[in-house]
Amino acid sequence: MELVFATNNNNKLKEVQAMLNAVTLLTLADIKCTENIPETSSTIIGNAIQKVNYLSDNYNVDGFADDTGLEIEALNNEPGVYSARYAGEEKSAEANMNLVLQKLQEHTNKKARFVTVIALNLNGTQHIFEGICNGIITETKSGSKGFGYDPIFIPDGFTKTFADMTQEEKARISHRGIAVKKLIHFLNQQ
Ligand code: IMP
Repeated sequence: MELVFATNNNNKLKEVQAMLNAVTLLTLADIKCTENIPETSSTIIGNAIQKVNYLSDNYNVDGFADDTGLEIEALNNEPGVYSARYAGEEKSAEANMNLVLQKLQEHTNKKARFVTVIALNLNGTQHIFEGICNGIITETKSGSKGFGYDPIFIPDGFTKTFADMTQEEKARISHRGIAVKKLIHFLNQQ
């Protein structure tokens, strides 16, 4: 089965590709989609649906899109759907992390969670898969692997950040890993 993954993020593509065996993943480049796919919803699930519907509507292909947000309890679930551009339109991971660390300085509650929603369009029907990874935000950055907020997030049950884990370690427990496992389970039943 061939499916298009609606992302321009090569880190995510690598993570997901590594978890999918029976499915041939096509990139946006493979279908010659070079424009920016709109992500203007105010919710994570809304963005995932918006992205996959864009593919179906404009390219007539089956595929899936994911959207992820980091929700920090003490910050009223910020940055949430605005995770990519929390510190500005340049979408700098360093600036985003610095802003989080600065805002959390005055809070003792460091609880946070990553939420991933995957929307799949397959044979004319839409399916939704969710993955949640609970954890805490650190006081300082640690690690050089992964991307985004990985250096400041320690998942529950661990003592190291996502950025100190290998890709395989992270995928086993991560929000995206959980959502992708649900997607794979579903696809294997088709
Ligand atoms: P996206 O909408 O899935 O691209 O994710 C939005 C933003 O959330 C990204 O730009 C990253 O800043 C952050 N993010 C998403 N997934 C992860 C992850 O696995 N680790 C750390 N940060 C992430």
